[in-house]
Amino acid sequence: MNLIPAEWAAVLYLVAAVCFILALRGLSSPKGARRGNLTGAAGALIAVVTVFLSAKLDNLPWIIGVLIVGSLIAAPVARRVKMTQMPQLVALFNGVGGGAAAIVSLLELSRVHSPYTALAVAFTLLVGGTSFSGSAITFLKLQELMPTRPLTFPGQRFLMSLVVLASIAAGTYVTIERLFVAALVLLALGLVVGVLLVLPVGGADVPIVISLLNAFTGLAVAASGLVLGNTLLLVAGTLVGASGTILTRAMATAMGRSVSGIIFGAFRKGGSTAGSTAISDRPVKSGTAEDVAILLNYAQKVIIVPGYGLAVAQAQHTLAELAETLEARGIEVLFAIHPVAGRMPGHMNVLLAEANVPYEKLKEMDEVNPEFKSADVALVVGANDVVNPAAKTSPGSPIYGMPILAVEDARQVVFLKRSMRPGFAGIENELLYEPQTTLLFGDAKDSLSKVLAAVKGM
Ligand code: NDP
Repeated sequence: MNLIPAEWAAVLYLVAAVCFILALRGLSSPKGARRGNLTGAAGALIAVVTVFLSAKLDNLPWIIGVLIVGSLIAAPVARRVKMTQMPQLVALFNGVGGGAAAIVSLLELSRVHSPYTALAVAFTLLVGGTSFSGSAITFLKLQELMPTRPLTFPGQRFLMSLVVLASIAAGTYVTIERLFVAALVLLALGLVVGVLLVLPVGGADVPIVISLLNAFTGLAVAASGLVLGNTLLLVAGTLVGASGTILTRAMATAMGRSVSGIIFGAFRKGGSTAGSTAISDRPVKSGTAEDVAILLNYAQKVIIVPGYGLAVAQAQHTLAELAETLEARGIEVLFAIHPVAGRMPGHMNVLLAEANVPYEKLKEMDEVNPEFKSADVALVVGANDVVNPAAKTSPGSPIYGMPILAVEDARQVVFLKRSMRPGFAGIENELLYEPQTTLLFGDAKDSLSKVLAAVKGM
């Protein structure tokens, strides 16, 4: 519309970029997270409004129409989504970001004159396409619409090598010849790379892949900033790319993994997905709420291990009340927090903070693991993968090498779950069959309410 001059637009872009940086700073602590989120949203709003006021836009009615349709879909979805479904939503939004960057670059190709910019187009098409389809597969895994275990098939490695080679060829064509057809082919290859990259990733490694795809989207957006000559896109994309890369590395280190091991691990194993995925019909020791209440009541030290099932059952308040009741009887109670328990980083911290569990009661994995040896009861509430000893004892298991909470060291282990179904990684947990383990079947909220009533009645 050209309502403001280019110099003003540059200043407003700078303000938006500062907002994004402050947002990242706010998001680095739970205290500043809400403010950080709002600051980031304000930066995005400033950026969008500046584009409308400063650029000469073709197809304005279309742009406004699409903005309205997008907002009408996204706002109610984001409002209604359950806390436990947040990672799926993040995966979808992330994929859409990568896909959008790829489409923008595809459409800009006809206006590109320098080979450097054409190279940026090729990069955006490949990485944006990978991010879109990879995020879609991640969404399907998180929504459990497809198996969460590593999925491999014969010839997968060969196919991946072929697709990579074809991508290099198509990318070269796009860079040198600027051919639209080659660009379309490159985008399609990017989509295939995304699928092939995420299929072999096991459930337990999905959090790291979400973060990696987020970094990919950032890089694709930064490259589309180069294509469009838009500094703000470049800055915002670089921020997302850099922070995504740092988070990916930090999560991989916390999980005892290397990023290349996660992505290429299943390929290297030549299609093996070792680790028991079938549910066996071996006997287990199941108990009643009263049995569990007796165990807890006579304990001196109880360590509670919350997991995804606690969030599904929304049982955090009942769990907090149970912990308070036990403490009032002089029993020491701690909460053991695994870095990837639940379905998003910090999930258990948020859940327990909501139930006003004092922060000092939450113990990180390294701090709490030595404590299990002196614990009378480890009460595992809706957790599975994060306590699965296969991570230590079964080389070849998809979770082998991942640090876990050492609940097997406790004198008694109680699992609260609904069935013998495995956790997100889709592999059986031997601990369920051990003699010191008692299972209390049922929805965690229901089971905890019964245990609480039984403890109070003693
Ligand atoms: P898991 O998914 O391993 O296990 C959850 C357990 O909760 C299952 O045993 C399930 O058994 C039980 N459960 C589900 N609903 C209920 C309910 N209403 N009441 C009682 N129990 C219930 O969870 P963990 O927290 O142990 O591990 C997290 C997994 O998710 C890891 O593999 C991690 O890598 C992955 N992940 C983590 C992310 C993160 O950032 N934190 C992101 C994406 C994936 P049953 O069905 O029998 O009840």
